[in-house]
This record gives sequence, structure tokens and C-alpha cells, in this order.
Amino acid sequence: MMQKKVFQFSHSSVNYYFDSSFLNLKDITDPKNTIIITDENVYTAHEKKFKPWNSIVLKPGEQFKVQATVDSIIGQLIEMGADRNTVLVGVGGGVISDLAGFIGCIYMRGIQFGFVPTTLLSMVDASIGGKNGIDVGFYKNMIGCIKQPSFILHDLDFLKTLPEKEWQNGFAEIIKHAAIKDAAMFEELEANKLSVYQKKIQSTALLIQRNAILKTKVVQKDEFEQGDRKLLNFGHTLAHALENQYDLTHGEAVAIGMAFAGKISQEYSSFKEADRLIKLIDKYGLPVTAGYNHNKVFDILQSDKKRENDLVNFILLKSIGKAYIEKISLEKLYNLL
Ligand code: NAD
Repeated sequence: MMQKKVFQFSHSSVNYYFDSSFLNLKDITDPKNTIIITDENVYTAHEKKFKPWNSIVLKPGEQFKVQATVDSIIGQLIEMGADRNTVLVGVGGGVISDLAGFIGCIYMRGIQFGFVPTTLLSMVDASIGGKNGIDVGFYKNMIGCIKQPSFILHDLDFLKTLPEKEWQNGFAEIIKHAAIKDAAMFEELEANKLSVYQKKIQSTALLIQRNAILKTKVVQKDEFEQGDRKLLNFGHTLAHALENQYDLTHGEAVAIGMAFAGKISQEYSSFKEADRLIKLIDKYGLPVTAGYNHNKVFDILQSDKKRENDLVNFILLKSIGKAYIEKISLEKLYNLL
């Protein structure tokens, strides 16, 4: 029997099937009117699982989270006869859920969609919260919509084929959650290490659920990012300016962004633990600095979606587990960079 947890958002509810199996997908959505969107890496590593399903298989990578891919998927959906009753299921990492959700928002003015996240990062973060969208040039997630999926199904079997680097990327968002909201989880991460989580999949399942629920609760309270949801952007302002310019993965860019935000927290608040934060990021194999061209990064920061006139909403820490929003002027930010 599949365990279901239902979470209510402002316009809809989302069914979460934690610790489930991909085989159960057919009990959630009828294969006859379902179309899966996935990428080549996930498809080849788990080909058998996809047999009963109509699938669109994309090239993997952030560089394909763009309008040209959206156009191509829409063309294929039309050819496959997709209509208003079709259910789209994004089976993959955050690139796939962002794309599948975006198409779910716009195809025929909106059809149902669900996610089977297959990276640690998408299980704990990207598949949750209803933000869907694509990049435009260097600008991350410039176009998109906020709409919740109908369901999220976790099958930890997918993690067996996840490359080491992608495990590290997932921990960037887990460390972020701990740093902004959960000091006890931060300590747990300090006491553990990546190889232990990779081996002890049962502890990892609990860690994944704890993170998925942490993010869900933040989003439930503030779906349209008027307040607390902004805290989830810890590390992301700099990350988004770096990610597409410097060929960094999302997790790597967030790790560098968190280290930077930790250091400037010490200038703005009573925070004294930047070194502790940096040590944890490093422990999980993630970068804490990058050489970058300040002017190029500043150009992208100026068009950050979180900017208000010449002030950027920067997420800083007061202590481990407590984050807050600091408005920093563009001029000051330029100097800090
Ligand atoms: P990704 O989708 O690019 O996946 C990373 C890599 O892992 C890809 O090469 C993919 O093919 C491969 N992969 C995925 N599952 C696999 C598996 N089970 N076995 C083997 N290989 C597998 O990236 P990601 O790190 O999952 O997500 C990053 C994206 O998520 C970024 O675009 C970011 O903007 C977005 N994101 C969105 C939100 C949101 O709220 N919408 C939040 C965080 C991140």
C-alpha cells in the first residue's frame, strides 16, 4: 500500500508519495493519457522503468532549460495528440521538473503535471514549491510561473545511478535548509559525511523527507514569496549571477553563494560562524570560492528578480538556523564583490 501525504497550498493540494516506487506511478496516473518528460541520462540508466510509458527524452543539462526546448516539446506534444486531459510527468532532476512544470502551465493554457525527482537536489528542493521556468541567456529562471504539481513521487532506486557530483550538489540545498531553518540538522550534517549517507539509504530517506517537508512548510506559509519564502534564496543571489556565466552546476554556485553570504553576514549581523558554515560546505565536496569577473557578475546581479529599485534583498544569517532579509544597495554590493 502506497503511503500518501497531502499538503495544501493556496490554490491546490499536492500528494507526496515518499519512499515509494516508480511502479506505483500507474496507480496515480493512467499511462494512456500520460506523457513523461525525462532526459537521456535518466532514461538510459533506467530504461526498463520507462517501457510502459510514452516518453519525450531530452538532452541533459542546464543549457537546455531554454525556450528552444520548450518549443520542441510542445511540437512533440501536439504530434502525440496531447490534449487537456493529458498528464505530464517530469522524471529527472531540477532541469526536467522546471521544464515539465512550465509546459504544464502553458500547454493549452494549463494541464495537470506531476514530478518524479531523480536527483537528491530535486527531491529536497527543485520539485517542491511550484516554481517552474526556464533561463534566458545568462539570466536564470527569467521566465516562468508558479503552479503546484498534482503529485510528487520519490523512488530512491534512482539515486543508485546518481553520479558523486550530483550527490554533492544535492547537499548544497540540504546545507542551505539547515543554515536558514534547522540548527539541529546542521549539527547532524557536521557529525556525518557524504559517503555515510550514500551507504545508509534509510537515514538518507529520512533526511530527504525532513528537507522536503521543511521546504514545503515554508512555501505553504508564503507561496507567492512575500516574506519567509525569500529565505530559501540564501546563497542564490550570487549563485544565479555565477551559474550560467561560469559553467557551474546549480549546487556548486549555491555553495559559493552561501559561503559569500556567510562572510557578509558577519559584517551586517551578530553572526560569527562563517568559518563553521564554510567548513561544512567543504566537507560535502562543494566549492566555497570562485574566481570571477566582478563587473560581469554585477551586471547580472543588477537584473536580479529580488531587486527593488537600487536595493537587493540579500538573505543573511543571524545564527546557524536563523536567516533574515537585509536590503543591500547595489553600490555596497559592488564593493562587497
Ligand atoms: P539536472 O536536472 O541537470 O540533473 C543533474 C544531472 O544528473 C543531469 O546530468 C541529469 O541527467 C543527471 N541525472 C538526474 N537523475 C539521475 C539519476 N537518477 N541517475 C543518473 N543521472 C541522473 O540538475 P539538478 O541539480 O537536479 O537541478 C538543478 C536545476 O534545478 C537548476 O536548473 C535549478 O535552477 C533548478 N532548481 C529549481 C528549483 C525550483 O524551486 N523550481 C529549486 C532548486 C533548483
